[in-house]
Amino acid sequence: MTDRTEESYWRYDTACGGCPHKDSFLSVEPARRDAQAHAERCRALPRPEDAR
Ligand SMILES: [Zn+2]
Repeated sequence: MTDRTEESYWRYDTACGGCPHKDSFLSVEPARRDAQAHAERCRALPRPEDAR
């Protein structure tokens, strides 16, 4: 899991650890859903660190 969900003020911010992807949501459910969906997509992308 490269994405993390952080609570800040009144919103939930999602930040990807593998790319500059960031987003903000007003509730935790869509935030987690987006983080998970992005993690799956982001992991599908070839990364120089993981390339063999
Ligand atoms: Zn990402």
